[in-house]
Amino acid sequence: MSVEGSQGSTGRYRPTNSNDPGWDYGQPVDENRDHVKCDFCGHVSKGGIKRLKQHLVKASYKGTMYKDVRKCDKVPQDVVDVLRSFMEGKQKITEEKQSKKDEMIRNVNVYGNDDDEVEEVMIQIPKKRKGPMDAFVAPIDVDFRPRAPNSNENKKALENIHSYIADFFYENSISFNCTRSDSYSKMMQAIVQYNDPSTFKPPSYNDLRVKILKKKKKEETSNWVDNFKVHWETYGVTIMTDWWTDGKGMTLINFLVNCPKGTVFLKSIDGSAHIHDAELIYKMLKDVIEEVGEKNVIQICTDNASNYVLAGEWIMAESKIY
Ligand SMILES: [Zn+2]
Repeated sequence: MSVEGSQGSTGRYRPTNSNDPGWDYGQPVDENRDHVKCDFCGHVSKGGIKRLKQHLVKASYKGTMYKDVRKCDKVPQDVVDVLRSFMEGKQKITEEKQSKKDEMIRNVNVYGNDDDEVEEVMIQIPKKRKGPMDAFVAPIDVDFRPRAPNSNENKKALENIHSYIADFFYENSISFNCTRSDSYSKMMQAIVQYNDPSTFKPPSYNDLRVKILKKKKKEETSNWVDNFKVHWETYGVTIMTDWWTDGKGMTLINFLVNCPKGTVFLKSIDGSAHIHDAELIYKMLKDVIEEVGEKNVIQICTDNASNYVLAGEWIMAESKIY
């Protein structure tokens, strides 16, 4: 990483906008911000300023704190105090942020009871601010009255909701075109229809990145095949099949479906037991033809192996496929 920042009037390097006190006690080596040299003992920490701070405070901890970090034996106590309070403060803010987030999710309460009393909805969402962290969670005002759909309160509530949604778009630089997508209105409808706010949980960073993505990919593959199916009828298809044996001696038989709009991989069957068996290949081909729709199949391309040829002949014998 190259050095961005300034030497300032003190002649010391400090990254732009950084208030990290670590830079008062260490400086980059060879303009590399990841290699920070300790002012006190000269040790170079290769994990950036974070590592340097750990180097400086390590001696003040007992036990296995910062196990892999070399401790500084020349750092003065007052520097340790400054750094520890900065580091622990930062740690605390991260924990606070998380617990406020958790609390925010729990606080979404819609009191659905049978009284004629006016029900109130209190929702809190976190708001990102560049100021002190205690502003992280700002109370929000959605005072919805279910029994008075046209009331001024509800108009105001809706206005506020729009404003929160707008904040989300502005804060994260999301294209306004997204509001025209089906998924946008679907998402909103889905949230509104979910009737148990106490268990409502938005997807986390990790959910989006791993769990949901995996699931979607699987769905998409089958949707993708479905999209092609529409064209199969219009254009007719060629079924292509071949087989190959992997390093472990397993034989895979692949079936692909080609039409002028493109080729899809339909399936792969473990054919280890069948590959020399014309009758089984014939059966598998039959299944595939059925899956694709016999009327859509213009031709079948196969391997020239005799078992395939034979299976192909059987297929041709009983249908109009060439
Ligand atoms: Zn040191």
